[in-house]
Amino acid sequence: MGAPRNQVFFPTTFQTLFSHWFRTPDAVPFAGGTDIIRYQGSRIPKLPQNILSLDKLEELHRITRTERYLEIGAMVKLSEIIALGKIVPEALTWCLEGIGGPQVRNLATIGGNICRKSHYSDASVPMIALDAQYELRTATATRWISASRFSSCAPVSGSPARPVDVPFSTLGSQELLTRIRIPLEQWDYGVYTKFTSREPDEPTGGIVFIIRNQKNVLTDIRIIYGRDIILRDKNTEALLIGKPLPLNRKDAFNCVDHWKTYLAALPPMEDLLQARIINFIESSLLGLTD
Ligand SMILES: Cc1cc2nc3c(=O)[nH]c(=O)nc-3n(C[C@H](O)[C@H](O)[C@H](O)COP(=O)(O)OP(=O)(O)OC[C@H]3O[C@@H](n4cnc5c(N)ncnc54)[C@H](O)[C@@H]3O)c2cc1C
Repeated sequence: MGAPRNQVFFPTTFQTLFSHWFRTPDAVPFAGGTDIIRYQGSRIPKLPQNILSLDKLEELHRITRTERYLEIGAMVKLSEIIALGKIVPEALTWCLEGIGGPQVRNLATIGGNICRKSHYSDASVPMIALDAQYELRTATATRWISASRFSSCAPVSGSPARPVDVPFSTLGSQELLTRIRIPLEQWDYGVYTKFTSREPDEPTGGIVFIIRNQKNVLTDIRIIYGRDIILRDKNTEALLIGKPLPLNRKDAFNCVDHWKTYLAALPPMEDLLQARIINFIESSLLGLTD
């Protein structure tokens, strides 16, 4: 007998979820559904044969806050996170505000965003910058993984290999993202930009710049771009740490040159993308000068 077809499961516990999944291995986790049905022009959307709705798993809707962390269940909607206000690191809020329109953000979940299969989702970029951790769960085990080591998809063919030099992990078979843990550290200045395309083949992606300032000394900095790949030059960050603020213009331009060298050493990428990244970094660094 073949696997059951055209079923929608609404498990209320992880035990029932994984036992449905075991019996129906082609079932697809369904969160807000906005990515699953995206780009479908017809009035009746095409859905996967078998669906595992995550909606009734109460634990996935929870938001908790400790002194050090904000923990967000995978089924929390993007609009709910934005509505939390000041507790949410600004870089993440700016990014979530740029995803779809209000209707999409009222349905779309943070877990669905991080797990979308096409490329690094918008939220992955601030999550990496903020040192977020993801809780992943199978029927038998739970593991935590750093956002910087997680990719929901294999690298896109034809794109540069993943330049961030860390082994990365994708979702395993019948594995769910269940929770996101974001450290609540103070970042003192930040900029987030989403590159949008006016022409179909223009490069897109999100880039974040955040710094920590202690007594007018730059004590930490993250500059991260993401779309098909994640770009981060830790050498440039190390050069800037310890510099007095406001930043000297010479140091700012020196770091821009380091980023140019970093990009030039990677497998080729579109000139327009390189130009957008360099412009963003230059203007963000100049924002720290007198
Ligand atoms: C008009 C429009 C504009 C959009 N704009 C943007 C944009 O600007 N930036 C952007 O990043 N996205 C955008 N999206 C895509 C999408 O809305 C978001 O990525 C959204 O956050 C996906 O969340 P969801 O809950 O709807 O995921 P779903 O569509 O339910 O799921 C997405 C994928 O993740 C898997 N999945 C979901 N939850 C889990 C989980 N907990 N564990 C494991 N796998 C899981 C599903 O099986 C599916 O493969 C847009 C979509 C629309 C319709």
